[in-house]
Amino acid sequence: MKISVRADLCCAAQLCTKNAPGIYRLDELGYNASDGDEVPPGQEAEARRGARSCPEGAINLEGE
Ligand code: SF4
Repeated sequence: MKISVRADLCCAAQLCTKNAPGIYRLDELGYNASDGDEVPPGQEAEARRGARSCPEGAINLEGE
């Protein structure tokens, strides 16, 4: 499973990292910097929880 983040939608709300701190990373300005990252095996549920929590719908999980 691969993380895709639309930078044009991300508004740095940071709910993704609050709900899935082991999956998502932020850049120095607080925007999601996880675009292109692979979700570690066994952590798909956490990745989904973080993606669902994004108020902008900026996160897509490829390979679902
Ligand atoms: S929750 Fe969504 S809008 Fe907020 S930082 Fe994460 S990806 Fe960006």
